[in-house]
Amino acid sequence: MTVRGPVEPGGLGSTLMHEHLFLDLRKNHLPHPKRVHLPGRSEPIITSEDFPATELARWEAKLGVGNLIDAKNVAPLSDNYILADEQAAIEEVMEFRERGGGAIVEVTSIGLKRDPEALRRVSEATGLHIVMGTGYYQRVFHPEDMDERTVEDLEGVIVRDVTAGVGDTGIRAGIIGEVGVNGGPITANEEKSVRAAARASRVTGAAISLHRGGVGDERRRTLDLIEEEGADLGRVILGHSDEIAEDMDLMMELLGRGPYVQFDLIGREQAITSIDAIGPEVGIGLSVTARDALAVARLIEAGYEERILLSQDVCWKSHLKRYGGFGYSYILERFLPHLRNIGVSESHIEKIMATNPSRALAFAEPAG
Ligand SMILES: [Zn+2]
Repeated sequence: MTVRGPVEPGGLGSTLMHEHLFLDLRKNHLPHPKRVHLPGRSEPIITSEDFPATELARWEAKLGVGNLIDAKNVAPLSDNYILADEQAAIEEVMEFRERGGGAIVEVTSIGLKRDPEALRRVSEATGLHIVMGTGYYQRVFHPEDMDERTVEDLEGVIVRDVTAGVGDTGIRAGIIGEVGVNGGPITANEEKSVRAAARASRVTGAAISLHRGGVGDERRRTLDLIEEEGADLGRVILGHSDEIAEDMDLMMELLGRGPYVQFDLIGREQAITSIDAIGPEVGIGLSVTARDALAVARLIEAGYEERILLSQDVCWKSHLKRYGGFGYSYILERFLPHLRNIGVSESHIEKIMATNPSRALAFAEPAG
């Protein structure tokens, strides 16, 4: 199911499984964040402490050559965390199309300022298939009344997005995700959101694409929750598996239960993308991209080539080519040639880039 309606899964071609064309992540990066616990709310509200005027000016500045390196490394700059330029989106995704790309799964979920109409316009302008997401992103992006919402409430919204479309746009979601499970620990509202996604997957046959699925082995618990709701773990994508790319034992154990593992932070050259995301170790190690390449080769060797998915998770302006980033075409331009260099065969690459995505995206027979 694409933003322009249903297509034959075999016609998607090379597919990026976790990208963003339009979103607003500013809530995640507020300077001098302060947690405020309001009575009657289980999750704290994140606001900014009072902070110096020069830092405020930096936070509010436009992203450009002069502040790009600071924005990428240390200084939060609000303009970096919003993607809203339609013409830029068209030009950037054309880089992927011109190199043979066929489809992009845009997993901007509820709370991230998802934009169905803009996605459809980009798809029309570029000829790319675009699959839109639904479901609830994490914590600070939850609706204000998330505590009061039941699993049934959340499930109802997701099922409607998939079967009838978002609002009155008639544009239907083709995947449930990214479903925000930050973990550490998994909160009550995250658990509700996962259970709702699982029920909606069972009812609609759409796949579930998880953001993380928790920290470390919390991923086991997330799979348990989905299983408890009667959904098929074969329809679950463990996103951001880059974070466990070096924990082969955990990956094998999880894979044994049926899901896809998705390496979707490809292109990031930093050794550590963020201390929160990767773990407490700080130092010069292999880049995320290099670890992913090794993990892909190992998983193929172990016979899991049917369960691997790839993407780049473009979500900041500094990820775009026009701001010096890797863009939407990094996998086609750089990563696949690297996989070939380390011995991954053309038929395995075809499976990972086209066959696996089309299988994951084809709706299963609903279980009712
Ligand atoms: Zn994402």
